[in-house]
Amino acid sequence: MIPLFKEFPRLGENLAYVDFFAKPTPVTRLKNIGKAIGLDNLYIKQDGLTGSPFGGNKVRKLEFILADAVKKGFQEVMTFGYAGSNHALATSIHAKKLGLHSISMLLRQHNAQYVRNNLLMSLYNNTEIHHYTGKKILSCAIPVQNLLHKIKRGKKPYNIPPGGSTPRGITGFINAAFELNEQIKQNKIPKPDLLYIGLGTCGTYIGLLIGFKVLGLNIKIVPVRIIEHSVANEKVMTGYFRRTVNFLCSIDNTFPRISLLPRDLIPRDEFLGLGYAQFTRAGIKAIKMMEENEGIKLDGTYTGKIFSAIINDAGKGILQDKNVLFWNTLNSRDISTYIKGLPYQKLPKALHCYFTEEIPPFNRL
Ligand SMILES: *Cc1c(COP(=O)(O)O)cnc(C)c1O
Repeated sequence: MIPLFKEFPRLGENLAYVDFFAKPTPVTRLKNIGKAIGLDNLYIKQDGLTGSPFGGNKVRKLEFILADAVKKGFQEVMTFGYAGSNHALATSIHAKKLGLHSISMLLRQHNAQYVRNNLLMSLYNNTEIHHYTGKKILSCAIPVQNLLHKIKRGKKPYNIPPGGSTPRGITGFINAAFELNEQIKQNKIPKPDLLYIGLGTCGTYIGLLIGFKVLGLNIKIVPVRIIEHSVANEKVMTGYFRRTVNFLCSIDNTFPRISLLPRDLIPRDEFLGLGYAQFTRAGIKAIKMMEENEGIKLDGTYTGKIFSAIINDAGKGILQDKNVLFWNTLNSRDISTYIKGLPYQKLPKALHCYFTEEIPPFNRL
């Protein structure tokens, strides 16, 4: 049984949940790169190994979301993201495992090799994809697409917001906090003083934050911004926090009514660079260092930027003698064998631009 349900049996009785991967994901010491940047106690939580053939942080959310879709009798799910969205891909792959048809509503983004790879993997998976080329921000495009789609089909799919950040999805990361707590108790890892994580749609961060508060576990989470303020901001974080706590309290009244502090709402903004999916020099350096020292692959949109925050802070000496945990949220399963030789021409025409246009020099990694 997952640790959240052990602690709160009523959640276990009432929340739909499907087990997609072996838990706990490993925590290991990053000895080499730790040495290179002057950190004796640097660890990684390998959430790239959730899910197969595609892991990453979204799978923890999908264990709760997709189970709910099945329980409620839906046959189709619809989700949203940018063209290379890890979330949209993880959703379609795991939806298929449960016999659900999936629809990805994708938006224009800066091109990169991983965008091509993820799109081809969606093709391999037979995902239904629509691409929205307008330059409107996420919040405008979604209702429009949603509406058009419903009218066309005449039936409503189960709606999964971008990043899977709903109270149910966020519950997956509350459980992840409980999972880490068990690993600490079993001496698999010393209690981290600091934990570095990305701030995208905010669900991953808010889930861990709620989890540590409920456990009374004193770990400072450092949320590193990887997306613009218009998407990830205090209002969004506060909303998810309240809605998730209310949701869980309404199912189990023994779930503690914890509260948010002003200092919980301050992300690290300085590693974003020009914006979402626009790689940074520091991020690319982090990717190269990780590959050379540990043989672990990071990416330019999320994990390279997050790890660049650790390198920065280590360089400034503020992590001296601290236990530091890097929570790797990036899929680490190799999808190259699935997508090799697949013709992009079989994707909807609107997506061909990602294959015909050049990848910006900075994003070639
Ligand atoms: C989606 C994603 C994140 C951000 O998670 P949120 O819950 O959306 O904040 C971080 N890293 C990777 C690799 C992701 O795909």
